[in-house]
Amino acid sequence: MLKKHLLVLFPMISVFLLLSACSNDEESSSSSENGKVQVVTTYSIVYDIVKNVGGDLVEIHSLAPIGSNPHEYDPLPEDVQKATDADAVFYNGLNLEAGNSWFDRLMETAGKDGEDAPVFLMSEGVEPMYLTTEGNEGEEDPHAWLNVQNGIQYAENARDGLIEIDPDNADVYKKNAEEYIAKLEALHQEAIDQFKKIPEEERILVTSEGAFKYFSEAYGFQAEYIWEINQENQGTPEQTTRIVDIIREKQIKGLFLETSIDPRSMEAVSAETDVPIMGKVFTDSLGEPGEDGDTYISMMEWNIQTIIDGLTK
Ligand SMILES: [Zn+2]
Repeated sequence: MLKKHLLVLFPMISVFLLLSACSNDEESSSSSENGKVQVVTTYSIVYDIVKNVGGDLVEIHSLAPIGSNPHEYDPLPEDVQKATDADAVFYNGLNLEAGNSWFDRLMETAGKDGEDAPVFLMSEGVEPMYLTTEGNEGEEDPHAWLNVQNGIQYAENARDGLIEIDPDNADVYKKNAEEYIAKLEALHQEAIDQFKKIPEEERILVTSEGAFKYFSEAYGFQAEYIWEINQENQGTPEQTTRIVDIIREKQIKGLFLETSIDPRSMEAVSAETDVPIMGKVFTDSLGEPGEDGDTYISMMEWNIQTIIDGLTK
């Protein structure tokens, strides 16, 4: 643990020194050169929501790459530069960017204390749900966005944050947010309507990570998982035995993989139980640009369809 900590810290310190040494020359290339608001987001889902509200007025640098796990991330020198130059930073919170404290340390290195250049919490106002497994009890579960109603809250927070840093364009942000939120409201209703195709007692979703707490509460599912959150050990023998027992006891008919998680643990569970994997869902990351799930709306639509197809076969 300590070793990993130091390995991450060292490059960040050297990058910081480098930045300090050349900051006078760099200043001219920062912020408003192209007239756009310079924003940093921590991962692709927050990126997409802020982009929808900010439109052409914002230029966004997103940190954890598409397909990766935002719970743990090692910022690159470019990330430190962008975070230092940013007019605002938007992050999920609720314990998401907490692995290795990568986000807190990046904000410290980038000199973002939330006053000079604001750091906005996208989940502000969301009712948190909590982890339950031993050792994690009482920690917040980050995956609020999988309930589209929370996604609407994120969009409102993005709007309010952008208005705070760029009040001259308040009307544009309000209009963009209004249009986007109307789409999200339709999406939420679509999810409720579509899931009626699955009998209530068969709405059991088994994934690698327990990312579906908020989703399950919103759309009437039971969520089961191999491990509860990506920060912990993944696919231990104890976790595997536990989920195999649950799958047998509840006579589960289909399992799901996540696009941003190594499939091997779930493949092993599938082999041991003879229960097939029905498809991949998006949880902590969007899909690649131009492919299915490349926006928050598209990833949720994909999830709805994949879950229905998988559980009604
Ligand atoms: Zn996750």
